[in-house]
Amino acid sequence: MTRLLPPGTGCREMQIGEGGPVYPQQRDGTIHVENKRHERLLRQVGATPAGMFAHSARGWRCPCGHLSYFRARCGRCGGTDLEEESP
Ligand SMILES: [Zn+2]
Repeated sequence: MTRLLPPGTGCREMQIGEGGPVYPQQRDGTIHVENKRHERLLRQVGATPAGMFAHSARGWRCPCGHLSYFRARCGRCGGTDLEEESP
């Protein structure tokens, strides 16, 4: 099983082609892919392998109180004034 980071922010799921299987983003912010072919296809469209440490050690805290895994934008309120935080 491989963990991939979806491209950009606000991407909550990735689909394999038209009508293909959909991989939802998991709680750790990554997409879990078992199928090697699907992994390659997702990487072709911008997904990147998550490092061992990628989402275990840090998050970004929004003024609204939400801890986001992405720096760019709060997943709850859409705020962009996030501060880095270690859980
Ligand atoms: Zn927020």
